Amino acid sequence: MVVHICCSVDSHYFLEEIRREFPDEKIVGFFYDPNIHPYSEYRLRLLDVQRSCKELGIDLIEGDYDYENWLEAVRGLENEPEKGERCRVCFDNRLSETVRLTKELGEKRWTTTLLISPLKSQNMLQEIGNSLAKESGTEFIFRDYRSNGGVQKQSKAVKENRLYRQNYCGCLFALKQQRDNQDRLMAEMFSPITKQVLPGSIESRIELYSRVTKRDRVVRETFLNYRLLWGRVKVRKKVVPSYFLFYSHSERKKITGRVEYIIDEVGYLNRDGVKIVTFSKVFQIVGKEIPDITIEEELEIREKIDKYRYSLSPIIVLEEIPNEKIEIEIESRIFTDSLERIL
Ligand code: SF4
Repeated sequence: MVVHICCSVDSHYFLEEIRREFPDEKIVGFFYDPNIHPYSEYRLRLLDVQRSCKELGIDLIEGDYDYENWLEAVRGLENEPEKGERCRVCFDNRLSETVRLTKELGEKRWTTTLLISPLKSQNMLQEIGNSLAKESGTEFIFRDYRSNGGVQKQSKAVKENRLYRQNYCGCLFALKQQRDNQDRLMAEMFSPITKQVLPGSIESRIELYSRVTKRDRVVRETFLNYRLLWGRVKVRKKVVPSYFLFYSHSERKKITGRVEYIIDEVGYLNRDGVKIVTFSKVFQIVGKEIPDITIEEELEIREKIDKYRYSLSPIIVLEEIPNEKIEIEIESRIFTDSLERIL
């Protein structure tokens, strides 16, 4: 039997139950979810499904991440709510591919772990599953493992196995709707052009879930997160190369001023607590060039310059400290966020 898998939270308990019900059946997991966005989130969910399947001793096949085709399929349905028409097309897309694989493997039966998700319409899934089965001459296995305490058992399995519990369904459109309703930044969509791992980011979760084991204790912490939306510095009306250190924040989007004094290679602007340092000063403090420094090292630099690790003053790195008027444009967000930590 081919079991389409959407995520480890839904698949772990579902696979246990399917195996219990069909002990003579060879079960093959199929991770086919081109709806998941961004790609790093796709890698994170796949990573956790691989860990869960390994634990259960179930073979796993990864489908193509053909995001463009998925986007094309849902074109015009971007603003549909969850459980609406976009989801119908999304289910149809993923389950059609599951049927294709089932036939390719010479199998007859197939199902999907989407059936256990409380946020999905079982009726819609059943309708699509039955129709695809009829068209293809295969057998869709419909099971409601949510009932009779299933939700509680599933939740227990998630906790026991330290599985990654995502907080949005998967696609860009649902994510945007959800964050707009929560009045929260879509922090998932930020990804530095360097290899830097931002706190609370998908990349930081990939790091954590690639080493977590069942024996670990994972706790969730709340912290003050930060994202730079954009920043730019002009000297003599010309844009100059710049780098804004983590937690550089200003209520004003535009700051114009001059460096009043320079102490120990730090230029102090006469506005908004802005400090200007040079790339060579950064190298002097952490012994690394800008593209290679970590957020932790950026905080170290901040502490050295501001004597206070939690200051929010803009600290901007330039090639040299200018004598002329400086125009700074900055837009950033400070927000409450959470991250997981292994004790
Ligand atoms: S909300 Fe979920 S099921 Fe619906 S289209 Fe987006 S990813 Fe697919």
